[in-house]
Amino acid sequence: MRKPIMAGNWKLNKTPNETIVFVEEIKPLLAGLNDVEIVICPPFTSINVATYLTKNTNIKIGAQNLFWEKSGAFTGEVSGDMLKELGCEYVIVGHSERRQYFGETDQTVNKKVFAAFAASLTPIVCVGETLQEREADKVEQALSAQIREGLQGLNAKDHGKIVIAYEPVWAIGTGRTATPAQASEAHGLIRGLLGEIFGEAAQSIRIQYGGSVKPDNVKELMAQSDIDGALIGGAALKADSFEKLVKYK
Ligand code: PEP
Repeated sequence: MRKPIMAGNWKLNKTPNETIVFVEEIKPLLAGLNDVEIVICPPFTSINVATYLTKNTNIKIGAQNLFWEKSGAFTGEVSGDMLKELGCEYVIVGHSERRQYFGETDQTVNKKVFAAFAASLTPIVCVGETLQEREADKVEQALSAQIREGLQGLNAKDHGKIVIAYEPVWAIGTGRTATPAQASEAHGLIRGLLGEIFGEAAQSIRIQYGGSVKPDNVKELMAQSDIDGALIGGAALKADSFEKLVKYK
């Protein structure tokens, strides 16, 4: 049984004060809900206040990025240990915005996955094809390269340590969602690729869908057998909308 995981990626949104307002609003709305794993990924500067306010609740905190070195002359970077000490449990790795605007590659994703493991953080590894790749019928090729290279060096014993997010780039922040059939097909493909690395244990790895998930399409997406949760941007920024997404059932 894969426990669904609903995660909000706040991107470059919410100051520490705005984070306090959101967390205090969402906590009572989600109290007692334990059949879904709930994760919020604020910007670095809001993590401290978020972990403090969600201590002993059912809400877990993740970061949106990390660097692969533990310390040293890397101005502006943040390590896995720093995030762990703040109380983070998850970290998003290889989000398409990081690939697009900050030069991340499957190789840097790979280093970050191992850095997350070293700090006992669970990486949420993002993969997904561009519109150009979809139109050229290269979805499988794109996902296969991202999974094989991004997860290089992992083996069956690592299956419990990662979450995958399938996020077609053309669906992120565009209001354009993959149809349940398109998402389902891609998730099936990804599970097959994970099988090459993890064997049977691939069945226990959770694969989230991300790309314009909203309260009015979440139920249909979550009904697909290989979709085990959602990574949500815009619709996770308001407490009432995030509540509806977490309570998709
Ligand atoms: C995301 O940030 O990962 C995302 C899927 O954004 P949105 O839900 O806004 O498309």
